[in-house]
Amino acid sequence: MYDIKDPVSKINGIGPRISYKLNSSQIYTISDLLYFFPRAYIDCTRPLSISNYRIGQDALIKAKISNIKFIRTSRKKMAIVNANLEDELGNTIVASWFNQPYLVNILKEGEIKVFYGKIGFDFSQKIKCILSPKFFNKCDIVPVYKEISGINSNFFVKHIKELLKNIKIDEFLPTHLLNKYSLISLKEALSKIHTPKNQKDIIEAKKRLGFDELFKIILKMQLRKYKFQKYSSYSVKIDFKVLMSFIKNLPFKLTKSQDKCLTEISSDMAKNKPMIRLLNGDVGSGKTIIATLSSFIVSNNKLRSLWMAPTEILATQHYNSLKKYFRKYSISISLITANYQIQFKNGKENIKPSQKELYGSDIIVGTHALLYIKKTISNVGLVVVDEEHRFGVKQRALLVKKFSKNNKSLPHYLSMSATPIPRTLALSIYADMNISIIDEMPLGRKKIITRLVSPINRNLAYDFIKKQINFGRQAFVICPLIDQNNENQDELFSLDKKAVMEEYNNLKNNIFKNYNIYYLHGRMKSKEKNKIMEYFDHKKIDILVATSVIEVGVDIPNANIMIIEDAENFGLAQLHQFRGRIGRGQHQSYCFLFTSKADEKTQKRLTSMEKFTSGFKLSEIDLAFRGPGEFTGNRQTGFDKLKIASLTDTIMLNYVVESAKWIIKEDINKFPKVKEKISLINE
Ligand code: ADP
Ligand code: MG
Repeated sequence: MYDIKDPVSKINGIGPRISYKLNSSQIYTISDLLYFFPRAYIDCTRPLSISNYRIGQDALIKAKISNIKFIRTSRKKMAIVNANLEDELGNTIVASWFNQPYLVNILKEGEIKVFYGKIGFDFSQKIKCILSPKFFNKCDIVPVYKEISGINSNFFVKHIKELLKNIKIDEFLPTHLLNKYSLISLKEALSKIHTPKNQKDIIEAKKRLGFDELFKIILKMQLRKYKFQKYSSYSVKIDFKVLMSFIKNLPFKLTKSQDKCLTEISSDMAKNKPMIRLLNGDVGSGKTIIATLSSFIVSNNKLRSLWMAPTEILATQHYNSLKKYFRKYSISISLITANYQIQFKNGKENIKPSQKELYGSDIIVGTHALLYIKKTISNVGLVVVDEEHRFGVKQRALLVKKFSKNNKSLPHYLSMSATPIPRTLALSIYADMNISIIDEMPLGRKKIITRLVSPINRNLAYDFIKKQINFGRQAFVICPLIDQNNENQDELFSLDKKAVMEEYNNLKNNIFKNYNIYYLHGRMKSKEKNKIMEYFDHKKIDILVATSVIEVGVDIPNANIMIIEDAENFGLAQLHQFRGRIGRGQHQSYCFLFTSKADEKTQKRLTSMEKFTSGFKLSEIDLAFRGPGEFTGNRQTGFDKLKIASLTDTIMLNYVVESAKWIIKEDINKFPKVKEKISLINE
């Protein structure tokens, strides 16, 4: 009997050479081998008669072998093995195998086998034939494994089958869940995924193993939320009179969605448990004011708020807008980034505050720099993280923990994201948070006119842009996507710079000769970037060529045009994100998606940008076209490593979410095997 934790070298028939090869493909233990699933199956259970198949089709036939011949072609020196195949109805076909001379010794005349291969045409003999068919002894379902390090599929078929006969596999899921969701046991599932007898076996196995994959991730996330709830927090009281008078003085009326979100947040914060909430809403839907109001409530309770933004530009923008909102209130605000350490207090800006002043503000806004503050900041009641997907899970946890009081109490936590998540996914991807959604835009927003532009119309678009600039407007040009999976940040930034400079030089020298044009890329210093944005804001720059990597997240209401190069390389959610940078002022805005890819699928996907304005709608379409990767990528949750489960399977997701909740309600400590399983996957 083997144990699933044994190394693969322990398996009979696997020597050091093969173990080494397996190891180099991340297969170390017997468990790894059992979780190396077939990439496909050849279903040999229903062979048909030869007469049923036409040229070009994949044929499955059960036939008797006769007349085996070995031929070597004179010109190309190719070895061909031919044989006659005759099925039960007496129909015949010639099978030809190329460059597999050893088959002469393997195939035996008179034997009946199942053959699987493509039907072709033999020009010399002018007859139909079956080309290099694979053959099997029985009418089985044959698993096909990915070939790794030169180990072929047959090796896995043989060894995994043997292995399954001699192994003990423990069940870890409680019987209650197995019964409730009609899941087969783990042992049965592993056996059926590798050696299915029919299609039903494969479906049952995938259901169980897919459930496991999601269950481990989602339970872990929910436990994180649950652990949070064990801490206490400040019970933040609302003085409605004070709050209403502040809201009345805003230059706009809150939308219904904003109202609803504010209610959800304030009732969370009123409890003596830490809030852990995501505020999700389209670009421009007005999330900042909700965070501002939350901080206002918190500071009226003599508590501090801490805001973290992913870039200096965004942090500075928040600082400036908070200054505006709180001008008439005695609420002090600090900005802490690599380049700035300033404080706004009693209507005045202090550019050389003491450390005590800097960290003593009611609201402290900053970048990652906040993570490295050594001084303890007391009375932090609320932590706000903007564009939360730009930070890692660990960074966020670090920030919150940093402000825990004697490890018993935590601040409330509000995370904001402008990446609209399809509703069907939100519950699972964000199983570690509660969610508030702003699903309407403030009144009076003009629809951005979006057009797909093919290469022949490029110049027409440029002419149109010149006219708009002559009227006093400004434009963004977003450069093609750089492969963001590149782990080498340095390389990423230099590629990014290259793309921007090429486009900038081209536009400056060939297209927009008489205009003020400038660039923005990740290699530039923060100070320099801020300066450029300031120039753009003051209309000293007409056209800004920017990278897709860095955030152009500033409010420039006069900019009403955006060009996106190689638009097909972006997800719709991301294109929508870029587009949200325009359409912020009183002028009609235009977004041009340049694409040279003419295939129907791309065109159809991009055309949805012309039709739809809601980020949530576009994210649903993205999900259908490109899968869930867009939404899970940066969250480091493990969803991107799913082998079997699909995040588009909503029914399964609901089962899993329910099951994880059940485990937590019953108490995870009652299920030591479940606990052990989830501790195996990394944070
Ligand atoms: P985002 O959700 O992308 O962070 P912001 O909070 O930056 O959006 O809001 C975008 C703009 O909309 C800001 O200029 C803000 O003042 C304005 N705004 C927010 N709420 C409303 C509202 N209810 N009515 C009108 N304008 C609003
Ligand atoms: Mg924002």
